[in-house]
Amino acid sequence: MSHATGCTDAPTTADPCSRCDVLVGLDGVHVETVERDAALMTVTVSTTWQLMGCPDCGVVAPSRGRRARVLHDVPHGDVRVQVVWRQRVWRCPEQVCARGTFAEQVPTLVAARGSLTVRAVAWAIGQLRREHATIAGLARQLGVGWWTLWRAVKPQLEHLASEESRFEGVTSLGVDEHIWHHRDPRTRGPKELTGMVDLTRDQHGRTHARLLDLVPGRSKKAYADWLTERGADFRAGIEVAALDPFGGYKAAIDAELADATAVLDAFHVVKLGTQVVDEVRRRIQQDTRGHRGRKGEPLFGIQTILRAGAENLTDRQLARLATAIEADEAHEAVYVAWRCAQDLRAAYRAKSTLEGRARAEKILESFHTCPIPEVARLGRTLRRWREAFLAYFSTERANNGGTEAINGIIELHRRLARGYRNRDNYRLRMLLAAGGLKT
Ligand SMILES: [Zn+2]
Repeated sequence: MSHATGCTDAPTTADPCSRCDVLVGLDGVHVETVERDAALMTVTVSTTWQLMGCPDCGVVAPSRGRRARVLHDVPHGDVRVQVVWRQRVWRCPEQVCARGTFAEQVPTLVAARGSLTVRAVAWAIGQLRREHATIAGLARQLGVGWWTLWRAVKPQLEHLASEESRFEGVTSLGVDEHIWHHRDPRTRGPKELTGMVDLTRDQHGRTHARLLDLVPGRSKKAYADWLTERGADFRAGIEVAALDPFGGYKAAIDAELADATAVLDAFHVVKLGTQVVDEVRRRIQQDTRGHRGRKGEPLFGIQTILRAGAENLTDRQLARLATAIEADEAHEAVYVAWRCAQDLRAAYRAKSTLEGRARAEKILESFHTCPIPEVARLGRTLRRWREAFLAYFSTERANNGGTEAINGIIELHRRLARGYRNRDNYRLRMLLAAGGLKT
């Protein structure tokens, strides 16, 4: 069953009907009727009469009536909403004027050739950003196709992405590599993207990490070119430049951000430690059993325990770890690697940066002499990056948590947005999700 309600108020352009505004909140138009059934609400709107001049020659144009345009609007719970706009049409009476007929435009209601209301587009952008929504899901709710929605959303995101003001006030900048596809690079372009992250703190010392950009490739050039594009003021404002242990990014920082302090990102260093434990466990497994881990074997199924911080392990997990290590003398190496990774974590987690730095110095003096080759290699890497590794403790933990948070958001949205084959679309989507756009 459906019912219709006519608005009996008589609004003028100067004094829009406040009741209708409350009801549906559509700017610039007057609600004529609202009809609804279980699945669909139809709101019929129009503008009030006005004297109209031809946009080309200015001659007063007589009305040619109205035509109904159906627009997709923000759904009301499970109920789809369509706006029927009785759009006014005029015809220029001036014989020498080429205009002919023309239709009214209400930019606050809908873009010139759009089929989604302005507020539906804004709603979709908000859902993408805050609710981890997908284009496909939102398109379904709006009753439109994927491309229809993306075509309406994309120009808005492009506009926001082109706002140079979003780069203002950045004093702490991170750089990181991202893999955005695993396909053939000959058809889809480079697999790696370089991501720039704003790690600047607010006045309370908290980081609200924002993804600032994603550019193709993983190289000195990728980062250096982006830094050049930002301009001298931006570069001069960067005090701390965080990075993963990759020489190319360091070279770009040395060239473009000579006055900034380069800091190894804590997240990446801790990850290197975890990788070492994984590598040692796999090698020992192979050496002692001659095959990859199988169910029931001591080193199988403790990967999760080995990756966690010791302080987070339950007594039961610690007991399982002990059992696995004691099962074979050779497993001792796994334990040593695990301890080293824990030492690395502990340096970053130290209560004071002074204590953290002391722990880091000890790591620099010991890891590279470790008889376990994987640990020794990590030790050599850290010694190569000595200055940037220690800089974390003299910059008040410059980059704590920010990179990790952004990587988490990107991971989540990469899974949600599995359809993005186009790098520009992927970039816009990730910038929106990871806070890079001012909306
Ligand atoms: Zn005209």
